[in-house]
Amino acid sequence: MHDESQHLAQQDLAFLQAVIDATADKMAWISDSVRQSIRKQEDVQLPTRYDSPLQFRILEGLVSKVKSAARDLGLSTEEFPHFACIPTGRVNASAVSLPGSSRPFLLFDSQLFLYCHLFAKTFARCLPILGREGMLSFSTELPEVKRRLESAPDIVEHLEDLLAAYTSTGAPSNSKPYPLESDYLQLVTILREGMELFVVAHEIGHVYAGHLSDLLKGLGLNAVSSEAWSSSHRQEHEADILGLALTLRASGYDAALAYVGVELFFVSLDMADRYAYAARQGNDDLFQTSPSSTHPSNEDRREALRIALVQFVSPIEQAESAKAMASNYEAIAKHLWAALKTANPSFKRTGLRPAA
Ligand SMILES: [Zn+2]
Repeated sequence: MHDESQHLAQQDLAFLQAVIDATADKMAWISDSVRQSIRKQEDVQLPTRYDSPLQFRILEGLVSKVKSAARDLGLSTEEFPHFACIPTGRVNASAVSLPGSSRPFLLFDSQLFLYCHLFAKTFARCLPILGREGMLSFSTELPEVKRRLESAPDIVEHLEDLLAAYTSTGAPSNSKPYPLESDYLQLVTILREGMELFVVAHEIGHVYAGHLSDLLKGLGLNAVSSEAWSSSHRQEHEADILGLALTLRASGYDAALAYVGVELFFVSLDMADRYAYAARQGNDDLFQTSPSSTHPSNEDRREALRIALVQFVSPIEQAESAKAMASNYEAIAKHLWAALKTANPSFKRTGLRPAA
């Protein structure tokens, strides 16, 4: 069991090695920077022996941004949680209270940030480049996105590879590495970081909202009553809203760019759920996002967040433009899904690497 966990913790390093192999010929500078980041892993102090060095570094950076955002918002950071990034077998995150420890503990699956990264990479590549004068700009007009998806069919192939790796093996690192055009590097970074910040800020939101003692109590329950369901749904909304406030503060970008990461996080969850359903059923005709016993539906969470956005962002025009951009990205995601369906209407796949 232990050996297997450690083996999984090394998966992202193996993945990086594969990126080097895939990019060495075409884009030497990426290979060089990846090689450097692998070398840097040697100095990282890890909280547990199961931590994945590369992912822990990413997490450390995100936590420190959220922590200073919390301070800016006037929240105490004295009892700030411990955190770790380990292979849990489920692409997920949680906040727990450990007996004997005065501080809460945040646990992130070591593949979670890799999934955010690979999803952001696919999504960014859907947007055609508009111009290169001064700054790079990208089109988010739906007809142009559609043309881009038709002219670059590998975007959809990589998306499907990622969703299949995630949903059938639990490990996005089982998807095939591929080089990223340098023009997209900055956009991928913005989208990825927005998604990741929200993931971390949501968990820290649970801590600030005082949910952890309730979570501990909840662990002893065998049967969950419908009352407990609604209270757990309420807690998710609270953590989302605190998470949103922290994300907007922690992000170095304007509200629209910061918020689009939040939107993409939900888009990526929806798409994975939809893909898992379609792969089982052979189609997604009857798929709907539904609430679970612990979490409200993604639709409800997004709705509540869009309402909260207006309270946190002023002037109102800025909040409105953030909402408009999020809706636009949601529409692009629908196009992306439709293109995936056209490319593989039966959702049958072969050649996927087996679970590690
Ligand atoms: Zn939560």
